[in-house]
Amino acid sequence: CGIIGCAGRDGETLDVLVHGLSKLEYRGYDSAGVALAGSDLDVCKTAGEIDELRAALEERSPSGSVGIGHTRWSTHGPPTDENAHPHLDCNREVAVVHNGIIENYQELRDELSTAGHEFRSDTDTEVVPHLIEDALADGADPEDAVRQAVARLEGSYAVCVVMSGVDRIFAARNDSPLVLGVDGEARSASESASGDEPRAAYYLASDVPAFRDHTDRVVYLADGEFAVVDADGYRVTTLDGEPVEKTEDTVDWDP
Ligand code: GLU
Repeated sequence: CGIIGCAGRDGETLDVLVHGLSKLEYRGYDSAGVALAGSDLDVCKTAGEIDELRAALEERSPSGSVGIGHTRWSTHGPPTDENAHPHLDCNREVAVVHNGIIENYQELRDELSTAGHEFRSDTDTEVVPHLIEDALADGADPEDAVRQAVARLEGSYAVCVVMSGVDRIFAARNDSPLVLGVDGEARSASESASGDEPRAAYYLASDVPAFRDHTDRVVYLADGEFAVVDADGYRVTTLDGEPVEKTEDTVDWDP
């Protein structure tokens, strides 16, 4: 059970995700998967070892400016390809990885099923992309849609979300670990426009080893916090949108 997210490593996103997952193997898992978002959303997931995910990825090469990955330790539903994360909404435009247990998932699933959502897995997690889909359909922007969905969850979660056509990762946590990795300075608009800006990349993970080969600068997220991460930086707020001032720590151990 581990999460990795990456923004700002264009062309390398997939490698960073798979490497991060291999560094989280020590936490134990029975399935693994990734989702990359650019103009499209590309998802690959399998039951079994990360080598099986690597094999499945050899037949295609998903690309995208942002991506998320997951190793699953099943709590709801057996370890199958369908139950592996990321999980998707009906339109396959929203991808979610989750560590933890959503205590009120049955109630949410019943409500969503009655409203016409079709579920593909047995997991508690799959309610999340469907809740986001509903909020988007009601006119919420991507960030608000994720906030509204997370606000409905009871239980433990670290979640990361990507969407087709959105070059950001949305993340939230409650009672499950989630850490931000910071590599490079946030860029001003003029630096970004100049084309020779210093490379910056940002990571999300359930534990530092997932991105420690890329950076030693970390921001520990707290319960109830919500992060928006893209190639230009990160922003942390409460779930309600109140800004939270975070400080960066430096981890002093080697990869
Ligand atoms: N409860 C979720 C599932 O069974 C997440 C498990 C995990 O933390 O890996 O898929």
